[in-house]
Amino acid sequence: MRGCYADGMPKMNNDAAISACLVCGERPTIRAHLLPESFVREIFHKPKADEKHMIFHPETGRKQQSNTGRFERGILCAKCDGVLGRYEDLAFRLITRLRSITVGRKLGTQSFINAGTYPFRVAVVDEFVRFACGILWKYSSTPTDEPSHIEIGECQALFENICWHGAAIPEGVDVFIERDLFSFAAFTDPSQVYYYCSPSIGRRGHRTSHDLAWFSIGGFTIYVKLNQPGLSDFAPKKCWMRGRKACHFNVAIRSIEVNSSMHESIGMTRDDLARLNKGIHAKYRSSQLP
Ligand SMILES: [Zn+2]
Repeated sequence: MRGCYADGMPKMNNDAAISACLVCGERPTIRAHLLPESFVREIFHKPKADEKHMIFHPETGRKQQSNTGRFERGILCAKCDGVLGRYEDLAFRLITRLRSITVGRKLGTQSFINAGTYPFRVAVVDEFVRFACGILWKYSSTPTDEPSHIEIGECQALFENICWHGAAIPEGVDVFIERDLFSFAAFTDPSQVYYYCSPSIGRRGHRTSHDLAWFSIGGFTIYVKLNQPGLSDFAPKKCWMRGRKACHFNVAIRSIEVNSSMHESIGMTRDDLARLNKGIHAKYRSSQLP
């Protein structure tokens, strides 16, 4: 299941407001963003910093207005949310830096992509892996009737240990990132971000096959191996980030397909967005904004 996000109005739920943190048991819980607000806010294009966006659920056609992305009450207290926040800040800075690396060029509507692997370094081994595990833990902790809820089985407890109790990353869990070429090709400026996608789950690989989860933020798709034995050949070996400081991200034409349904989703929400942001756009045109 996936949604293209621009925002969700929260449902007030008094039971959730007094529920205990799923990690430490403390009360109260807070409104925990499922995807970090920083990744959601960057899809607004300066100077329209207060622009609204839309969350679209392709399976149901349901649309929701959004300001800072979806959040869930009743799963995390402020302290435990803050632990994830530190991983998320580092991930945001890393992804922003990697998006500025040239992977091709655009001439009018044509894109020329240099497929391959691109080196980068991380300061702390496995920090990005913990970030990715945290995102999946949050989506798996939402109520099962939520459209973006995912089932990750034993990985829910495993990822909790990885994110909050300092557990080592087991061999079965690994992460690689791939530049989202649909984002690159279908929109005007490859350095900007136009959408994000909540996690999906499926079996992926060529000669091997593993259960993976993936989600898209910041112009990249993040793939996570869900505690599966053996090396996955879904990405070049050097792209798997577990245990490395010297990493590589992948650039492959196949990535155009991963989020191509976004084209339809954006078409379905275009009129709503125009209506929501009418006042902001009018101010922008008349230069009332800086
Ligand atoms: Zn807590």
